[in-house]
Amino acid sequence: MRLSGIEIRGFKSFCDPVRISFEDHRIVGIVGPNGCGKSNVVDALRWVLGEQSAKHLRGQDMQDVIFAGSKTRTQSATASVTLFFENYRVPDTGLFKFGSFSEISIGRKLHRDGSSEYLINNTPARLKDIRDIFLDTGVGGKGYSIIEQGMIGRIITSKPEERLRIVEEAAGISKFKVKKQEAFQR
Ligand code: ATP
Ligand code: MG
Repeated sequence: MRLSGIEIRGFKSFCDPVRISFEDHRIVGIVGPNGCGKSNVVDALRWVLGEQSAKHLRGQDMQDVIFAGSKTRTQSATASVTLFFENYRVPDTGLFKFGSFSEISIGRKLHRDGSSEYLINNTPARLKDIRDIFLDTGVGGKGYSIIEQGMIGRIITSKPEERLRIVEEAAGISKFKVKKQEAFQR
């Protein structure tokens, strides 16, 4: 699964809709002057993948992610982020791993009244459905595909069990651990 683009509207400093296309690049770096919104792009990625903690998104309440307005622009009513992924074609079968579309979009919306929704290909979905798609892919709120400032240092100094979790995700084991836990809960 390759992230091909992100569309952000009404989220943090992104008042007008912005679409960033990652094209065929395997590694993407976001650069720009202080305060231009680099970390907000990373926050948007984490948010759409299900981040539940406003603090992890550098806010007090979840509604803080909605564009708060400026001298010249009124605040937004809704924050909306959509990620676009190239679907994974299973080798030798010609089939896609998820559904039948070559592109999958994952969206999250939050309105000022607190109501919110997750979307897969523009159809309302549960966060669990989204998490299931990304299990084992390294993508996800806690995945290793988003390397933030300070993260390399945190990995190096983390406890062995935490480092093991990263290796398990990369090795494709974490999916089975989650399925096992779910089976025991039934
Ligand atoms: P640095 O290089 O310092 O890390 P950065 O490029 O990562 O900067 P961000 O932290 O992404 O910058 O963006 C900060 C800007 O986003 C600030 O100007 C802040 O006011 C603005 N911002 C954050 N939340 C909102 C919001 N809800 N509405 C409007 N603007 C917001
Ligand atoms: Mg920053």
